[in-house]
Amino acid sequence: MNSLPIWLLHVSRTERITPHMARVTLTGDDLRGFSLTEPDQQVKLYFPRPGQSRPLLPEVDGTTDLMSWYQAFNAVPEDERPWMRSYTIRAHDPATDSLTFDFVLHRHAGPATRWAMAAEVGDCLGVFGPSAYFARPKPLSASLAEADWVLLAGDDTALPGMATILESLPAGKRALVLAEVQEAADEQPFRTAADLTTTWLHRGAAEPGQSEALADALRAASLPEGEGFAWIAGEAGLVRRMRRHLVDDRSMPKSRIEFSGCWRLKLTQDDAPTPEDLAEAQERLAEAQAQTS
Ligand SMILES: Cc1cc2nc3c(=O)[nH]c(=O)nc-3n(C[C@H](O)[C@H](O)[C@H](O)COP(=O)(O)OP(=O)(O)OC[C@H]3O[C@@H](n4cnc5c(N)ncnc54)[C@H](O)[C@@H]3O)c2cc1C
Repeated sequence: MNSLPIWLLHVSRTERITPHMARVTLTGDDLRGFSLTEPDQQVKLYFPRPGQSRPLLPEVDGTTDLMSWYQAFNAVPEDERPWMRSYTIRAHDPATDSLTFDFVLHRHAGPATRWAMAAEVGDCLGVFGPSAYFARPKPLSASLAEADWVLLAGDDTALPGMATILESLPAGKRALVLAEVQEAADEQPFRTAADLTTTWLHRGAAEPGQSEALADALRAASLPEGEGFAWIAGEAGLVRRMRRHLVDDRSMPKSRIEFSGCWRLKLTQDDAPTPEDLAEAQERLAEAQAQTS
């Protein structure tokens, strides 16, 4: 039994919700008593290696030291070590002790996408989190509550996070969504009490991450009066360009922009951080220290 939030779950349902998005629901006794308090909760998913019927989970006993999670992960022999990828909890159902994830089925499918494409009821997956390890210095719900309006912009990988944020917003909150997907059939309906305007962008035959449709739409968008809060997620370079626009051209304070480079062009999540990734990590650290001091 692990003392950190590491769960072994099995698939209870699969569904293709749009041509390029698979919804997988996972359940397991480990989730009894689990609760979700914030929208846009990221976790690490552990995928089995070929030949394994279940991922070999890192064992972390008797400690709540969060760094021990990563040490334990690296201690698993490399050829048996599960592939680890970041995903967003799309939904939690305490009645069935289940978590739902939406997987983008992208054309350069790595281990996570290949697993999701083939997932069947009974297949096993490991989950690490939600954990204070990935926690924001200030809860997202607080940033959303303080803002007069909310901007959510991102590509397909942002849709699960966007959907949970929109579901958390109260009636009357002004929300603008700019979302890029491949084609009209990939659009999803959002459930929200907020006063929502959604703009869908279609990249068509363009490579994901290389279309400027989303960044151009942001540059052209007219944003409401008052103090806004922006949440942007998707391919790291695209997210960087959109954040730069909000800071440089719209004078939006960095503290009012939450951003997440969900994936990197031509790089897997196993690849080392780029200099830009490291610079951003430094910036986040400085921002977190500024918020807590
Ligand atoms: C905080 C966070 C939350 C996330 N939440 C979700 C989520 O809920 N749902 C979801 O689907 N993804 C989500 N992602 C993104 C997901 O982790 C990445 O897309 C991941 O790389 C997919 O793993 P893979 O094994 O398929 O590809 P990898 O082995 O990591 O990469 C293989 C190749 O695929 C390319 N690639 C990776 N992702 C994409 C993509 N989306 N489109 C096009 N090419 C891609 C890479 O550039 C690389 O060339 C999230 C990421 C972060 C950081």
